[in-house]
Amino acid sequence: MDYKSVKDSEVFISVLMQPSHSNFGGKIHGGYILSLMDQIAFACASKYSGAYCVTASVDTVDFRNPIEIGELVTMKASINYVGRSSMVVGIRVESENIQSGFVKHCNSSYFTMVAKDEEGKTTSVPGLILNSDIDRRRFVKSIRRMEMKKAHSEEYRALDGSTAESLEILSEYNVQVNLSNNNE
Ligand code: GDP
Repeated sequence: MDYKSVKDSEVFISVLMQPSHSNFGGKIHGGYILSLMDQIAFACASKYSGAYCVTASVDTVDFRNPIEIGELVTMKASINYVGRSSMVVGIRVESENIQSGFVKHCNSSYFTMVAKDEEGKTTSVPGLILNSDIDRRRFVKSIRRMEMKKAHSEEYRALDGSTAESLEILSEYNVQVNLSNNNE
């Protein structure tokens, strides 16, 4: 059985934020940052597994701080968890004002990637060697995140918009509920 350490998976990129990547409000477009995150997740998972990888899911990305034109964005990624063919890549995004040196944390996110062989079938990835407390914490947190996601999905699937409970919830929101036009 093949094993690799978290260190073997580490990747980072730094990109200077150009005016062409700004939105109408003059800040860097969130979609551009997501695209860079997808690239680094792919690079990290491919480097670790030695296989072609695809993105299976992306954990919530909360943009904590806006990114300005001219800042230097650094993304650091490493493998947090491995299954048989799946990997969770953790990514930390920071942005630096290169004049003042001030660094802000923009977001942290967790991408689930799956390794594929030449025929497009899932293929197994090396086991992960957990060398530090941080490696172990991130692995356990990934397991917990997956368990929580599974529990939530089951709860979401069971939701029905016409129950008394749903109508009560809706009554607290900025909506007008029209029950006579139920065309589903
Ligand atoms: P954490 O996941 O709770 O430790 O939250 P962080 O915001 O510190 O980091 C998010 C993810 O970014 C981590 O799970 C790592 O996968 C990755 N990461 C953080 N710091 C580093 C680093 O110094 N180098 C590399 N390669 N990846 C990092």
